[in-house]
This record gives sequence, C-alpha cells and structure tokens, in this order.
Amino acid sequence: MARLAYSDFLRQLYGTRVQKLNVNAGLTCPNRDGSLGWGGCAYCNNASFTPVFSHSTASVTQQLLDAKQFYAGKYASMKHLAYFQSFTSTYAQVEKLCSLYSEALSVPDVVGLVISTRPDCLSDEVLDLICSIDRNHPVIVEIGVETSHNRTLTLINRCHSWQCAEDAITRVASRGIHVGAHLILGLPGESENDMMATVDAIAQLPISTVKFHQLQVLRGTSLAQQWESAALNIINWTPQQYASFCHRIISSLPERIVVERMVSTAPQALLLHPKWNLKPAQFREIFQNIL
Ligand code: SF4
Repeated sequence: MARLAYSDFLRQLYGTRVQKLNVNAGLTCPNRDGSLGWGGCAYCNNASFTPVFSHSTASVTQQLLDAKQFYAGKYASMKHLAYFQSFTSTYAQVEKLCSLYSEALSVPDVVGLVISTRPDCLSDEVLDLICSIDRNHPVIVEIGVETSHNRTLTLINRCHSWQCAEDAITRVASRGIHVGAHLILGLPGESENDMMATVDAIAQLPISTVKFHQLQVLRGTSLAQQWESAALNIINWTPQQYASFCHRIISSLPERIVVERMVSTAPQALLLHPKWNLKPAQFREIFQNIL
C-alpha cells in the first residue's frame, strides 16, 4: 500500500476536495489560565499561525465566511473544513463546544471539523460530543504530542506527559475518530536519535495522520528569552539537513500514516530562528531534490 497524500486522505474521508479554514473560537488553554500552568508552552505564540481573518472577536460564522471570501479565487470549487486551531479547542464546557462546532457546521459548504487540542483536554463527555458530530460530519482530532520524551516535555513546560498523549490518542481512536499527531522537531536538548525515538513511538499508536515541523523560536515566548541569552541547546539545521532528516522520518513511518506537513513558516516579524526564509513550495523543492 502506497502512502496517501494528505489531500487524497481528506478527499477519501469527505468524498470531495476540501480546504481547511482556520477558526479562533476565543478559548484559552489550561497551560495559560493557571489550571495547569501559566505562560504556556515555551515555544507557543498563537499569533504565528493565526490568519488575519481568524480573530476571536468575530463569530465563528463570520470568520468562516471571511475565510471563504479570502480563498474564493483559489479554492472556489472546494468544500471546507472548519479548523479549530487556536489555543485548546476542546477546553470549555461541552455545551459551549457543541454550540461552537454546530455553528461552524451550519455555514454553507463546511462539511467537517478539524479540532486541535492538548491530550489532557479530551474528557469522555467531549469525546461523546465529537462522536455524535462525526456520525454526519467527519471529524479529525489533532493532538499536540510534540515529543515522547518526558524530560523535554518538562523543559518546554507542556504540563503533560508522553503517557497522557498515548492514552488520549488511544481513547480517541477507539471511538472510531481519526487522530492526527503534532510533533515538533529540534526541541531543546534533543538529538536526531531522540526525535527518531519519538517517531518510532508514535508509529505504534493508532494515528491516521502526523504533522511535524522544525522548532521555531518566536518573539514573545520563553524560548525567545533563552535564545537571546544564548542559553538554548538546539540543533542548527540547514534546510537541506532538515529535509534530509524529514526523509529519514518519513521512510521509517508505516505507510498507513499520512504525512500532513513537514515544515512551518511563521511570519518573519515573529521569527528569531531558524531564518530559512523559505516558502513551503521552496522547501518541497529542496525535499524533492534529496529524494
Ligand atoms: S501550545 Fe497549545 S497547550 Fe501550549 S500554551 Fe500554546 S495553546 Fe496552550
């Protein structure tokens, strides 16, 4: 069996071509509001992946309509997925989540949901809700795993363990819901062999997709402070070295696991490191060249 491209995986799941549209539901995160921690994960700056039309002061409906308008020329014939990406998109009362998700699905041409969250924010009640939606509108739950090494999770202030991520992935998948795992490559103190150990561990779990990207040191984060004081012990890849490592990772993953993404491109104004200054298409070309 050859590995599916992510676009083909989505097309099979939804029966049509789909485009993800970001939604900021205005929720927070237990690692920011003091429930688990303050200040968030060491690398986290949500502004780095929040499009201009995705702002929590607008309703879910308005954000989706604005996003559809933004992409109208490029993806006119596609259906849409509401991508609840900002902060922790299952961190609210179930009634509120139900209302947010239902509102998204009531927007014309929105055929499903991608819900991004932490592994410790998936209660049975939340899973019941997601299952009930999934019966008519397929849902993908994207879980921030980042690494399998508890020492790194502590270092970056994730406030959950690898075992928590394993448990969450297993519980979601056992409900018949597709799970995507999110990993960060190049976290402080990790060698390439450490990262391969994470990839090997994740490959044992019932995930459908994996999304990984290089660590980006962003302004406004605690990593940025460490970077500026030269206290950060991280791998300094060139794009070619990173592409080569991505190839090693993908070669080791079972073909049943779809690879969504290998690289991330934060706005230059926020980015301190690495300054590759590459668009995703340029990185894909580098990757193709090393195959
Ligand atoms: S990365 Fe996610 S869990 Fe961590 S602080 Fe940011 S929103 Fe919260």
